[in-house]
Amino acid sequence: MGYQHRPGTTGHLVDRAPARRRSGVTSERPVGGQPPTQTAAAGEQLNTVLRALTLLIGVCVSHTAFPDTVPGGLYVAELPPHAQRATYEGRPVLLLDGKAIVGIPLAAAPGSHTLQIVDADGAAHGLAFTVVPKQYPEQRLTIENPRMVNPDPRDLERIRSESARMRAGYLSYEPADVTRLRPFVMPLEGITSSPFGYRRILNDQPRNPHSGLDIAAPEGTPVAAPAPGKVSLTGNFYFNGRTVFVDHGQGLVTMYCHLSKINASEGQDLQRGEVLGLVGATGRATGPHLHWSVSLNGNRVDPEQVIALLAQ
Ligand SMILES: [Zn+2]
Repeated sequence: MGYQHRPGTTGHLVDRAPARRRSGVTSERPVGGQPPTQTAAAGEQLNTVLRALTLLIGVCVSHTAFPDTVPGGLYVAELPPHAQRATYEGRPVLLLDGKAIVGIPLAAAPGSHTLQIVDADGAAHGLAFTVVPKQYPEQRLTIENPRMVNPDPRDLERIRSESARMRAGYLSYEPADVTRLRPFVMPLEGITSSPFGYRRILNDQPRNPHSGLDIAAPEGTPVAAPAPGKVSLTGNFYFNGRTVFVDHGQGLVTMYCHLSKINASEGQDLQRGEVLGLVGATGRATGPHLHWSVSLNGNRVDPEQVIALLAQ
């Protein structure tokens, strides 16, 4: 996921001036003008050029931390100093180092979205930001077992009940010191066999987009916690097979599925690097791999964006 800046993605306060504005190059004195006639003038002009360059580099660097906000991506907002909490679509979002880190659903409509910010005095106001469209590539897969593409009515009953449990797992919001989550690392080494967000066509039938990252690895490869967290749900589910949910706090939840073996139990605290299960091909899988989902405020987001954001 590139972190280049494009215009039109920076949020702005709807009913209040931004607490902090980024400097603009246009406010700097113009570079150029009359040719220098003496050494002092040349030195002054060089200083002006250097100041402009420094400012330009500074602007570029500050933008690298604020990538485009796309469906399935993140929106990172600097919060006003007195902000106490923030919500998006009615759910609390993760707060870290004076910033709100918001998970945007893959199904989000491009256009204007709003982060609600509540100050210490209880006053609420909206911070508008723009979600820009992203066309994720299409991926066609052939699944041997037709019931894994078109489940029968009894399967559907089971799927609905499992989905409700998993949805509750994703919607958890536990207070936690999230500074301990850095660095947030990959749960295993392997080849990405299916990136996040791909539009799935299973046996020629359109299905939900890919809500995680697939990492191919030999059966039995250990899967480790990417950061500290508590095991909030384990089970053997219809599509996901053997599955572990880890709640890292403040709405950051990770899910590991298709495991051959689960090495953790509900309620267990995990440290970064602690093995929670082994790679397998249980549930709807075409071969041994880990499907890894990362969720923020109830929305599955690109795991690589979260790794980049919480790298250090
Ligand atoms: Zn997957």
